[in-house]
Order: sequence, then C-alpha cells, then structure tokens
Amino acid sequence: MKGLFFKGVQLADRQTPTEHIITPWTPTRAVVPLLPREVGVVPVGTVVKKGTLLGEEGGFAPENGMVTEYREIAHPLMGKVLCAVMELCPHDETEDPEKYALQGAHNREDILQAVRQAGIINEATGEYLWKELQQWDESLLEYVAVDLLEDDPLCGAGAALFVSDREKVLRGMEYLGDVLPEISRKIVWNSRWMEENQEGIPKKYGLRLKKRYPAWVLHQQESGACAVRIGVQALAALVEAVEEGKSQTHTIVTVAGEMLTDPGMYLVPIGTPIGELLEHCGAGARPCQVVMGPALTGQAVLDQDAPVTANTQGITVWSPQKAKLDDRVFPCIGCGKCQSACPMGLEPWVVQEALGLDPVPIPMLWRVEECSQCGVCRAVCPSGIDLTACMRQAAELRKRGGLT
Ligand code: SF4
Ligand code: SF4
Repeated sequence: MKGLFFKGVQLADRQTPTEHIITPWTPTRAVVPLLPREVGVVPVGTVVKKGTLLGEEGGFAPENGMVTEYREIAHPLMGKVLCAVMELCPHDETEDPEKYALQGAHNREDILQAVRQAGIINEATGEYLWKELQQWDESLLEYVAVDLLEDDPLCGAGAALFVSDREKVLRGMEYLGDVLPEISRKIVWNSRWMEENQEGIPKKYGLRLKKRYPAWVLHQQESGACAVRIGVQALAALVEAVEEGKSQTHTIVTVAGEMLTDPGMYLVPIGTPIGELLEHCGAGARPCQVVMGPALTGQAVLDQDAPVTANTQGITVWSPQKAKLDDRVFPCIGCGKCQSACPMGLEPWVVQEALGLDPVPIPMLWRVEECSQCGVCRAVCPSGIDLTACMRQAAELRKRGGLT
C-alpha cells in the first residue's frame, strides 16, 4: 500500500501578509458561547457593558448591549453550546466594567490572574490560555512556538496581526517569558514567512519549517522535540489583559470564497453570527455552503446563527453546486496515498475499512489516538472519503473500550 508520496500536502501559497487588510466591523447582534456550556449568569433583558462576563467561566459581552435570550446552538467547532444572544449598541460610550490592568511591576501570578480574568483562548489549540500556562511543564518543554498559523493559505489572520501590530506581539512574548521564566530564552516562531522577515527578531528564534502542510506536525515528528504553540492573537490579548485590563472580546477571521463580493480579513466581535458576517461580506440571498475553521480541517456550518469564536480563524463559502461535486464519495481503491501522506505514519485506509465491519475489529484501530486531525489524509484521498472523521470516530470508539 505504501507509495512514493511526501508526508503532508503542498498547499497553494497564500498572498504575502502585507497584502491583507484587517477591516473592523461590528454586527447588530452577538451570539456569545458560554462556558461552562450550560450556565448563563445574566438575566434576560439586562443591559450589559462591553467586557461583562455572561457565563460562569467564559463568554464576554463583546460590545455594550442587551441580553435578549439564551439559545442552544449546534456549533461547528464547539458542538452543542448555550449562547447568550445580545442586541449590540457599540456606540454607547459606557466604560468597560473590567479594570484589572496591572500597575507597575508584575509577577507570574499577576499575569496568570489577568489572563484568566480576560478569558483568553489560545487560537492555536482552542484551549483556555490560563489553563495551558499552568499545565505547561517548563522542566520538560524544549521551546514555546509563537504560531502565525499560516500553514493554511486561507487563514492569514496571525500574520496580518503581526504586520499591523508587531510591537504588541513582541511585548506579548516578553510577558510570556515572565510567566515561563525557565524557557523565556526559548520562545521561537512557528512561521514560514518569518524566515524572510526577521526585522527586530533574532534569527535563532525562527524554526526551519517545511513548506508543506501540516508544517508544525511534520516539524514535531522530525525533531521529536517537546514543544507547545501559542497563537499570535492570544499573545496580543495577553498584552491587552495585562496593560489595559481588557477581556478577549474580538478576533480576526479570514472570510473567503467565490460567493462573496467583499472577502477579506475582518476584526469582529467574538459571537458575531456567521450569517450576518456573510451578508456583510456580500454573500447575498443565494444559498451557499459554509465551512468554519481552517480549509483542511474546517467543519460545515448548519446554523447561520453559529457564532465566530476565538479559534475560528477562517470562514469559507462555496456555491452549493460546487460543494455537491466535491462531496462525491467512492469506495477505497487501495492507492495508499492517505498512509503515505499522514505526518504521524498512521494507516487511515485500514481504519475506514475496520469501521465498515461489524463488529469493528479493535486491533485494526491501532494508534488512532495519535491522529492530529490535520485533515491531510482526507485531502489526498482520490475517493473523497472523510478519513479525518473516520479517525475521530475510531478514537472515540477506542476510548469507550470498543463498544458501539
Ligand atoms: S490520520 Fe490523522 S494525522 Fe494522519 S493525515 Fe489523517 S488526520 Fe492527519
Ligand atoms: S482511503 Fe483513499 S487515499 Fe487511502 S488507500 Fe483508500 S482510496 Fe487511497
């Protein structure tokens, strides 16, 4: 089954980051996901200020406005989640309620507290940053990679933010060094583009990444290094939390696709309903197929009220006709491309075959937990089989001890 095929896949090069424009935009409504997923703490009808905490642990009012209802949404990246629906009044000049800005010198605990109160999500992983900062074991870590998340040519938000506010990102690296003093000299860049744009950045801090997707996974496999990633947007939010006491209320998302008259890089409130954003980008009233997340690992949007989250990164829109052509699935032809391209050396074709048997032979699901969900196997499969979903399903099956 093993063929001559490079690990990973070659994606078309995106435009250089300087060509991207970040366009701030505010919708009329916000649908804010709450954490934990079933608890809202503000009564319906309450007028809240920008930055008000709406869930017990997470979910901030992205602008001033009124909470009009609570609704459960099937979210493409989060699954079912309770959301606070808000009518926004962004022009109301009321002050943010949070004022946790740290004055003068600050230590690790101060910064961790600010990160926690700001509810910062690390867009590279989709996890709460304060939890990760507490869990990362400095004695084991070899480096922390600041990730511009440019593996994916359709998601250039990290690089665009770096171009527009380089100083803030660099200050974020300094605060990160304050939280992780033992590895503060080992904070590096996970970026292909940074190799050529090193102004103000010592060269030794750039990782030499492959030109193939998924560059980070391939690098990890080759080097065997124990390392973690932090997104550029999370770093910028860290600076705003420490210096201004701001919650993470906004994110940059790349909106692309042939159905749009105004695609681009938009700075939007977290909680922006996708339908409203697409309308603003010129999707019109025509029916369209929408995917949220990076191009290779994105998930279909079934509810146009599904909100933009801190780790959305990209939204891509196709015409239904094109999506229908792409959706055709054929039986496995045994070409072996999925196995050859898998950066983790897994055998997705074996797993999809096993899932078609009853009962599923669990030994055929060997090492499925190591799947990084990078989506490469699905991208290279000439039969159009959703092997990423097969790997996910198989991992869940193994977790449950093989019981279907
Ligand atoms: S099996 Fe997992 S790790 Fe391998 S290519 Fe597919 S999604 Fe990526
Ligand atoms: S699952 Fe797809 S890529 Fe893998 S062997 Fe079968 S046809 Fe080829």
